[in-house]
Amino acid sequence: MTSDEPSEVTPIFDRPLEERIRAYKRLPEHPSLPRTAEQLVRDEIMLDGNARLNLATFVGTWMEPEARALYSDAFDKNIVDKDEYPQTAAIEETCWRILADLWNAPDAAAAIGTSTIGSSEACMLGGLALKRRWQHARTAAGLDTERPNLVMSSAVQVCWEKFCNYFDVEPRFVPISEEHPTLDGHDLASHIDERTIGVVAIMGVTYTGMYEPVAAISAALDDIHQKTGLDVPIHVDGASGAMVAPFLQPDLAWDFRLPRVHSINTSGHKYGLVYPGLGWVVWRNASLLPDDLIFTVSYLGGEMPTFALNFSRPGAQVLLQYYQFLRLGHAGYTAVQRESQRVALHLAHGIDAMDAFDLWNDGSDIPVFAWRLKAGHTKNWTLYDLQDRLRMHGWLVPAYAMPDDLADVTVQRIVVRIGLSIDLAEKLLAEIRTQVRYLDRLDSPLPDDANRSGFHH
Ligand SMILES: *Cc1c(COP(=O)(O)O)cnc(C)c1O
Repeated sequence: MTSDEPSEVTPIFDRPLEERIRAYKRLPEHPSLPRTAEQLVRDEIMLDGNARLNLATFVGTWMEPEARALYSDAFDKNIVDKDEYPQTAAIEETCWRILADLWNAPDAAAAIGTSTIGSSEACMLGGLALKRRWQHARTAAGLDTERPNLVMSSAVQVCWEKFCNYFDVEPRFVPISEEHPTLDGHDLASHIDERTIGVVAIMGVTYTGMYEPVAAISAALDDIHQKTGLDVPIHVDGASGAMVAPFLQPDLAWDFRLPRVHSINTSGHKYGLVYPGLGWVVWRNASLLPDDLIFTVSYLGGEMPTFALNFSRPGAQVLLQYYQFLRLGHAGYTAVQRESQRVALHLAHGIDAMDAFDLWNDGSDIPVFAWRLKAGHTKNWTLYDLQDRLRMHGWLVPAYAMPDDLADVTVQRIVVRIGLSIDLAEKLLAEIRTQVRYLDRLDSPLPDDANRSGFHH
């Protein structure tokens, strides 16, 4: 080895790799020592936020050490390789069968489902099944299959806009309002016609955490069915709520107890309590998933049906979901979600007690709530300014505009997840009080920040 080549004895910050990457922004010419590469990556991610203080995300940021150990032993498993990893494939099926049962499928043995990379992929699959079934019915009736549409709230998560865009379906948004803060069946008939492939109902609206009343939406569709003959199915987007409602609101009928609900998705990596990325989608009955959407992969010398947008994808998260099911059981999930809800209610009531704010909701659906500035409180600052002040102290508490027709309303939201203890919540409340006192001392408005980056739900 020549004297200018780095070796293990060269001090780590004196090794030359970093300079080359900075200078060329392309694959380095030469290899580097493992510790050098590791240190460079660690240094860059040091500037990321602290995930535990991120109250913007729904996604899991904490698991037990046993789960972490399991993860690191399983991160080489490829979910699509059913032949190589038949046990992982069997566990995947066990997991979605557990969910079918948890969501009250009348005959869990007749249900069908799959894991996905997240709810976005799961929603695409749910939407594709609705579209394909509608097309088959139209073709069978000798009708055209042009211009299908999907009806949903203006407060849907962006994945539904993507679905409509990528798969040529017209999105029909029912605007939310002060009187109808969620899709609730009101005025549904004016959005539905013979080209409607389905209605999306959200359990846990991303903007506020509120449940849409799926039973009321279903009743409105029953009414439409009776009057017009149009029999429109529901897909429930339970990205967050489908792993909360079974434990915190077991009597609420939002799931397969409603015959109109064809399919349900959830994010394993949200209140399923698994690291990203894992989603699930389950159909009440295999007959609701058209055969011509299914592809087969080889499995133990035979074939296995699959329905997915991805081919290769990590299998370890599926094992983590199974770990959580075994570890927590029904009582454990109930305890964890109830504790998150206790913290959410505590925070919401603390914020409600401050003069500056009005609650939008209090976290009694999923442990998520939003608030706005009380009308007339101040002209000198906005919730965006409060967001910035909190960020200076490490807390990520996003402010954003509501969707149509409430786009002039700004709210701020907190998502409570496992790991946000009541002690941390107290510290956050104290910080909010301190920052509001500071902002209230302004005697003229703060400048508008035109470059504010949008919040992505
Ligand atoms: C988060 C979310 C999604 C997208 O889920 P990912 O798992 O992040 O892909 C879809 N719908 C709703 C209601 C959500 O909250």
